[in-house]
This record gives sequence, C-alpha cells and structure tokens, in this order.
Amino acid sequence: MKKVLLLFVIGTSSLLFSQQVSKKRVIEVLSHLASDEMKGRDIGTPENDSAAVYIAKQFADNKLSYCIGDSYLIPFEYKGKIVYNVCGIKKGKSEKTLAFSAHFDHIGTSENTEDKVFNGADDNASGVTAIIGLADYFKTKKSDFSLMYIAFNGEEKGMKGSKAIVEIPDLQEQQQNIAALFNFEMIATVSQFGPNTLYMTGDEFSDLDELFNEKAVNNLKIQPDPYKKQQLFYRSDNVSFVKKKIIAHSLSTVDMTKAKHYHQLNDDLEIVDFDNLTQIINNFGKTIEKLTPKNFAPKYTDKVNFN
Ligand SMILES: [Zn+2]
Repeated sequence: MKKVLLLFVIGTSSLLFSQQVSKKRVIEVLSHLASDEMKGRDIGTPENDSAAVYIAKQFADNKLSYCIGDSYLIPFEYKGKIVYNVCGIKKGKSEKTLAFSAHFDHIGTSENTEDKVFNGADDNASGVTAIIGLADYFKTKKSDFSLMYIAFNGEEKGMKGSKAIVEIPDLQEQQQNIAALFNFEMIATVSQFGPNTLYMTGDEFSDLDELFNEKAVNNLKIQPDPYKKQQLFYRSDNVSFVKKKIIAHSLSTVDMTKAKHYHQLNDDLEIVDFDNLTQIINNFGKTIEKLTPKNFAPKYTDKVNFN
C-alpha cells in the first residue's frame, strides 16, 4: 500500500513539474556559448565560427531539416571573410511557419582589463539557448505549424546576418510562409513584469501579443514594451523581416532603464536566472503546441513603418 502511494505521489509530482527541457540542459547550452573559450563570439573570429558549428550540432541532434542546401550553416561575406548564419526547420502539418530567432554573435574581447572576455551570457547566449531549447522541446513532436530556427550572426555590427539571410533568393518562398517570427533578445533576467513574462517590442504594431496571450499556458505572458522611447522594434534583427512585411517582433526581459550589464564584462553567467529562463522556454513550447494557422494569424496595424 505504502509503495503504491509513494508511486502515486512520484507520478503526480513528475506530471505537475515535468519539463521537456531541463534546467540542466539550459545551463549546459548557455554556459557553452558564454564560456571564455568562445572569446565573446565576435563576427569574423574562429570562435564565432565555433559557436555557429555548435548551434548547427544542436540542430542536427534535433533532426531539423536544412533551410537551404546541404548544411545548417548559411554563408555570407563580412569584411572579406566568409561567416555564417545558422538555420534549421522542422516540418509541421502545414507549410505555414513560425520562426524563432536570436543573434549568437557578441562583441569579442577587451584589451586592457583583467577579465578580457565579453561573455554575452544575456546578450545573447540567452536568446540562442531559447531557440535551441525550443528545438529540443519539439524534437519528437509534430506541430501544426512548421517551425524554423535561425541564429543570426553580426547583429552587433549592424544586424549583418539578418540583413543577409532575408535576401537569399532560394529562401524567399519559405519566408513567405512565415506567419510570425519571434526574435529572442536578452532574456536571461526576470523582467520588470515578474517571472514568466517577456515584453514585446513594437506591440502596438500587430496583434501578435494578444493572439499569443489568448493561448498562453501556465501564466506565461507577453507584455507591452515599457521602453518605447528607445524604438527597440527598429533596432533588432526582427526589423530585417519587418521590411519584407513579415510579422516579426523581438521579445526581451532586460530592463533597459536599470541594467548595468549591457555590453559590459559583467554580462556573465552570474546574472542569469536559469529557473526563469527554463520556465519561459517550456511554457513557450507548450503554448506554440496550441497554435494553429487558423487560430494564430497575426496582422500588422497601419502604425508600422516598413522602411
Ligand atoms: Zn549586443
């Protein structure tokens, strides 16, 4: 009897607290990208290439298809060097696609200090960890939407990667199938709205947040952008897709009025709230599972500037 009861308790609690993506896995991925060996993932460095290869390996482990050609690595030229975006896709029941993106490059190393590496744990190892986590989450699931995962390079040097990828001729058809792109940008800390929340840049430009929140699970919530004056909507990789009239917003948790780690050496593992990040990734996955091309077709309002 006791044994049965114990099994019941274990069974119930693991149901209640089951997470498809473990905190251990979130720590593993983020710590790898933000490690000193990555030397700040500056575009054009061997370490930036290593980060791209690492992301491609996670896509391969999750059995994603290539977005184009025969590799996840999509080359473009930067200052005479070949550098890479990384792109993978998981076919769903429909060709209609949800895209998840994050830039993986950061600002490299510093010359004159003891700690020489800009680890960029929040900016933006956190966002890349979210897209890898979502790919993990859907590894053995077939969603209604097809799911596209893109890690952009060169954001820190003027959004080079996202600008390059939207112009690739062989990707135009797939791009036209994107119902919405969620670009994760600095999500390592708890937002000013509390745990399990993100704010969305340009929330007034589309109904993506309203439609998402209607289906959101476990109190996950997308909040309006509290830092509108900073025009973040037009300052991150989502804008390359906005110019193509594709619904594309950035999601973040960073407090732009208080954060002391933006492009600083202390943007390191210590500032990451792994419980919150793990919770967000899993709740995001669970919510995406409920979205279908029928119940989720966000549209722009006439307030948005496409140029
Ligand atoms: Zn940055």
